[in-house]
Amino acid sequence: MSFADLGLSDELLRAVTDAGYTEPTPIQQQSIPPVLMGKDLIGIAQTGTGKTAAFVLPMIDILGEGRTRALMPRSLILEPTRELAAQVAENFEKYGTHHKLSMALLIGGVQMGDQVKALEKGVDVLIATPGRLMDLFGRGKILLNGCSLLVIDEADRMLDMGFIPDIEEICTKLPKERQTLLFSATMPPVIKKLADKFLNDPKRVEVARPATTNTNITQFLIETSTMKKREVLRGLLEAENVQSGIIFCNRKTTVRELNKSLQRHGFRSAEIHGDMDQPARIAELERFKRGDVNILVASDVAARGLDVKGVSHVYNFDAPWHPDDYVHRIGRTGRAGAKGTAYTLVTKEDAENIANIEKLTGQKISRVKLKTAPAPSDDEDREEAPRGRGRGRKTEDEKPKRGRGKKDDRADDAVDEEVRRDEPRREPARREEPRRDEPRRDRRPRDEQPRRDHRRRDERDDGPDDGWNGPIPDFLNYTLAE
Ligand code: ADP
Ligand code: MG
Repeated sequence: MSFADLGLSDELLRAVTDAGYTEPTPIQQQSIPPVLMGKDLIGIAQTGTGKTAAFVLPMIDILGEGRTRALMPRSLILEPTRELAAQVAENFEKYGTHHKLSMALLIGGVQMGDQVKALEKGVDVLIATPGRLMDLFGRGKILLNGCSLLVIDEADRMLDMGFIPDIEEICTKLPKERQTLLFSATMPPVIKKLADKFLNDPKRVEVARPATTNTNITQFLIETSTMKKREVLRGLLEAENVQSGIIFCNRKTTVRELNKSLQRHGFRSAEIHGDMDQPARIAELERFKRGDVNILVASDVAARGLDVKGVSHVYNFDAPWHPDDYVHRIGRTGRAGAKGTAYTLVTKEDAENIANIEKLTGQKISRVKLKTAPAPSDDEDREEAPRGRGRGRKTEDEKPKRGRGKKDDRADDAVDEEVRRDEPRREPARREEPRRDEPRRDRRPRDEQPRRDHRRRDERDDGPDDGWNGPIPDFLNYTLAE
């Protein structure tokens, strides 16, 4: 099936061809015709399947026919994060080149003045995060009663971020006579209820079982210990000659520290997390997109839904606390038909998280046991590992927070701060001796290279032998466990 079969205008078809797309993805094939007909729609498809164009394309044609009015946006797209909102705006620019639609972006972290000015003139498309929109609405700066088309995108992420009450309120401010589209990778009961309440006889389009992971992504679990994660990660990055990869961490502090560590080891990496302001995040993302750096270390919220072309690898430096975060994280690779690889570093403490992921996705993930014997951990790895008492056990604060945070990035901020406060005291330094054998290449100066810990295995605090010996795993050597 081609885009021309979907009923889109010639101008739009030209823009799509210019964008280099030859064929609509399944969700686009099924969504575009009913949306053009004015129907409400629920679109369920995993990440990376092209949901954005599934609503942006028909919207451009629908909006191309009407006229802008001051103060009243004609359509509203709700996105859970600023990055996603910015990406949707990029999509409008790309496909809308032959149309004269005006657009405003209402997102946190950006000066409000310009946004308000744009709104006063009137816009065809308003793209907003719920928090910022409610804020402006509360100040009487915006009227939603001219808004006859509403898109709730990434609904399951909205739920995770505590945005559902805001969305419900926003829905009540829009005219009843409107078209509503809802897109989500999964369909938890709360979203189903939201749809029942605010959509009118929607067409339901579903292209894959909810929460299945993309079959183009090859997934592995790498068994290791907290102390050795950095070494193992560096080994993976080197062994595979990664073109472009995203590394996910559960906490912002880990994002920062890991990025610094990678840079010290000569990797071209950047970071993106909830502590950075919007321009800084966008700048880092641009550096990654341009290829100035090829590794992006990220926290979940900051990276949610990022669409970066050609990410070959995803690494979960920490196994995610929520199983659906796993689906979203690894969905950064294997996009639009390309092949991708996802590695998750797992420690003994992650057993439950992994079991939940496998339950959600209905797939068993291949375990990779690194062959050789146990090894030293280097100084800086020690910095990062949870220290002293409580190691290996989760403190209350480290446990996943469901329904946790509220707006934008507060969720991961809160987790970080609490964990930091709760960190146990640092242990005294260990006895160390220089290592004698150097069977591997190491980018660091000699005095920074890892040293061997000669204490008995059970004296070390990094848990029992996990079968890892040395920082560079030779991936030709791995065995797949059942
Ligand atoms: P989702 O919202 O489902 O996670 P996106 O809309 O972000 O996915 O699209 C994922 C990627 O697929 C983007 O890089 C997008 O440019 C690309 N894409 C979308 N539609 C097509 C298509 N018809 N052909 C090729 N690539 C596409
Ligand atoms: Mg999307």
